[in-house]
Amino acid sequence: MSDTLPRSVASLAAGLARGEYSSVELTRHYLDRIAALDGALNSFITVCAEQALAEAAAADAARAAGHAGPLTGIPYANKDIFCTRGVRTSCASRMLDNFIAPYDATAVEKLRAAGLVMLGKTNMDEFAMGSSNESSYYGPVANPWDLARVPGGSSGGSAAAVAAGLAPLATGTDTGGSIRQPAAFCGISGLKPTYGRVSRYGMIAFASSLDQGGPMGYSAEDLALMLNALAGFDLRDSTSIERADEDFTRLLDAPVAGLRIGLPREYFDDQLDAGIRACVEAAVKTLQARGATVQEISLPHMSLAIPAYYVIAPAECSSNLSRYDGARFGYRCADPKDLTDLYCRSRGEGFGAEVKRRILIGTYALSSGYYDAYYRKAQQVRRLLRDDFMQAFDEVDVIIGPTTPTVAYQTGAHSKDPVTMYLGDIYTTAANLAGLPSLSIPAGFVDGLPVGMQMTAAHFDEARMLGLAHQYQRDSDWHLRAPAAFT
Ligand code: GLN
Repeated sequence: MSDTLPRSVASLAAGLARGEYSSVELTRHYLDRIAALDGALNSFITVCAEQALAEAAAADAARAAGHAGPLTGIPYANKDIFCTRGVRTSCASRMLDNFIAPYDATAVEKLRAAGLVMLGKTNMDEFAMGSSNESSYYGPVANPWDLARVPGGSSGGSAAAVAAGLAPLATGTDTGGSIRQPAAFCGISGLKPTYGRVSRYGMIAFASSLDQGGPMGYSAEDLALMLNALAGFDLRDSTSIERADEDFTRLLDAPVAGLRIGLPREYFDDQLDAGIRACVEAAVKTLQARGATVQEISLPHMSLAIPAYYVIAPAECSSNLSRYDGARFGYRCADPKDLTDLYCRSRGEGFGAEVKRRILIGTYALSSGYYDAYYRKAQQVRRLLRDDFMQAFDEVDVIIGPTTPTVAYQTGAHSKDPVTMYLGDIYTTAANLAGLPSLSIPAGFVDGLPVGMQMTAAHFDEARMLGLAHQYQRDSDWHLRAPAAFT
């Protein structure tokens, strides 16, 4: 088997179908790369070599029996927030360091049913709280483009693994940008689907009204293929949306001509790095040359997205994380004196600093006397933001802007300054507050570091947005570039 494999999953699947290599050989290829290269990245918390090879052998057998689907035998990396039966599911927290999940998340079950092979569980910010992957109990992840820089977060391990060619696909979760922002920092593609598309059952909860799982990979086409396997109604998730299954690849080749692109004035403000602006503007020109129309739009409440998000997300997290009390499951302190001591020390020792900060903020915002001033107000702002988007989608089909205000920064640069870190989520959180599908794809480089372009569409309009992204990737090759140290 050749050392340089195609980057796209569609091509890898074609190679499997032609019998150029087996899934076992393909899986070995990635496991070997992980063994050789992940020491420098720390993108995996757990590697499941034996299990992966067994799954690959089963995929080869299914193919031989004539039962292969489009992704049968394709390896992937799974964010360590998705429960996996028999495999440690840590959420990158000391709290769950010894937690072996007794069941599979629905998303995992679906990927398994589609014949994908799980290589292992990827590193992330603790309980998905962060934008730099520095809050992991298992240590930070390095960005493959520059090992001194962060890969973004919270799905930083997944993004780094795909960018470095340690896996062709990965899962991520996005509560306020955690799929799109690390995709942007690592030069890959990532999609947060419409809220309710992908089941949250077995996906460890951070902020339940915002959390959404989704695919990460090289290209929009690969995202569409993986979303086909991930999406679907699930009785076990009460916010799962009951809709007929659809093929997310069906509009990949739809013409760009006539599509209406909106550029929000509020995204192209003075907080935006000039180099990033130039990349996004050039990408929009490319789409315009293919016949898309472009107009400026306004999302007047955009500046309230970060304040509203950083009330709602911590409020929900303080409630969701109350289950980790040292009694039911998770970390338990040694020799508690009494019940209060058990709670206090188990939570005190089991959670890291950023998680504690969020629990404190959230508990405060929800406490009586403050609830109306903070939580209710934030929910009202959320409605206004959603209304802004609904109005915009009367006029345009897809909203385009930068994914992040800067490229990947040095590890440690913001770790003592949470507010600066939170401001990095300025362009991503609004889509979560409004429940909209949103993706990031590579759109160039600034100082040798990848730049992400964000697209956001109306609810359930993933297929059209993926089509626009795919057409851009036919005219550009940013997504095909790999970091020099990992080619
Ligand atoms: N960076 C955001 C936060 O820290 C988003 C995290 C996420 O999407 N999981 O909350």
